[in-house]
Amino acid sequence: MSHALVPKGVLDALELAARSFLWQRSANTRSMHYVDLASLCHPRNDGGLGFHATATWSGPLRARFAWEYLQPHQSLFERAMHGRYSENLFTCPPRRSDSAVIKILRDGAASLLSVSRWRIGRGENINILADRWIHDRVLSRWPTFIHSQLPDSMLLSEMLTENGDWNRSKLLQFFGLSLVDTIIQIPTYPAVRRDRHELNFQHSGKTIASMAYAACFPSPSADFSWLSRLGLRPRERLFWWRLALDAIPTRCWLLRRGLTDSGVCPWGCPSPENRDHIMRGSSNVAAISCELHQWGIDMPVVQDWASFPALVSSTRKLDLGPLLVFCYVVYQHWRTRNAKVHGREFGTPLILAATIMENINCSTDFPSTRYWGTNRPDKPSPSSFWCPPAAGLD
Ligand SMILES: [Zn+2]
Repeated sequence: MSHALVPKGVLDALELAARSFLWQRSANTRSMHYVDLASLCHPRNDGGLGFHATATWSGPLRARFAWEYLQPHQSLFERAMHGRYSENLFTCPPRRSDSAVIKILRDGAASLLSVSRWRIGRGENINILADRWIHDRVLSRWPTFIHSQLPDSMLLSEMLTENGDWNRSKLLQFFGLSLVDTIIQIPTYPAVRRDRHELNFQHSGKTIASMAYAACFPSPSADFSWLSRLGLRPRERLFWWRLALDAIPTRCWLLRRGLTDSGVCPWGCPSPENRDHIMRGSSNVAAISCELHQWGIDMPVVQDWASFPALVSSTRKLDLGPLLVFCYVVYQHWRTRNAKVHGREFGTPLILAATIMENINCSTDFPSTRYWGTNRPDKPSPSSFWCPPAAGLD
């Protein structure tokens, strides 16, 4: 896809096949959409699952070709292309007669511009409003205070002195004082003369394609770093990711969509079953917690969902053990709740508590989980899984 011009119709067909794989169980039945495909395609650090959006990927994959094109030219092809198009390739309008190579480079350049900025030489190629030269911002798309008489076509060279330094008095004609102070901190390279492109984040460890792909999505509305911090197993992680997006079919969720007549908790609790109730109010969660408490294992009391991500983020890494137990308790409660609702067999709180402890690997570095088996007569190694206490052991 990066080396050839694949028709958009083909890419759309591939995406349709991916959607069918996710949501169409068979030719006649379709699954419920809890989360839209765009959210699934967000990078994992930004709250998605990192699925690849086929049509969105083509530009970022080609961004490295555009980046190579901007580097010092070695091959005959690169020298010939640069001699003909120079860096106007980024700005000149597309023509029907353009070759496939030019179309691929221009497509890659469009993605590259979102993750690169100008490294200022003499400023003769940089448009003040339309180009990115203040950190990762474009002034025409950044709501800030700029004099309304700043011409659209003004070049940055007019803000520099003959020596290539910033002309403070000229800057003050068009920008506010705080923005001028920010601009003056930006280094210029008048000895190089030529303006060049540089990556916004040169030492991020990510590839150009990865950065350009991440830039295709809007900034996440919430911080999801807490989810990675917990280090949950994939199945539990997926559950908590859905919980974060309020995308699990609680009774209240189904009621909002007209798929049930009542929002009452299936365990008979007086309060409606919503996300907060799943976490703190269910009598089943309380029963599992009671069983764990008898084994000397406590978990924190979480008042509501809104406080949970901040609680994880503010907890020291070594003290995450109780929160990890809490996450597994809520997950096992949800599985049991589904079994009850759909008429399947489910375990007692004692069985669930034992299952939770079996699922948590004692090899983690959490002090509260590392020595859970210390008092057992057969003294399991710290790397073994936890097991329920032996019969008759106080
Ligand atoms: Zn309940």
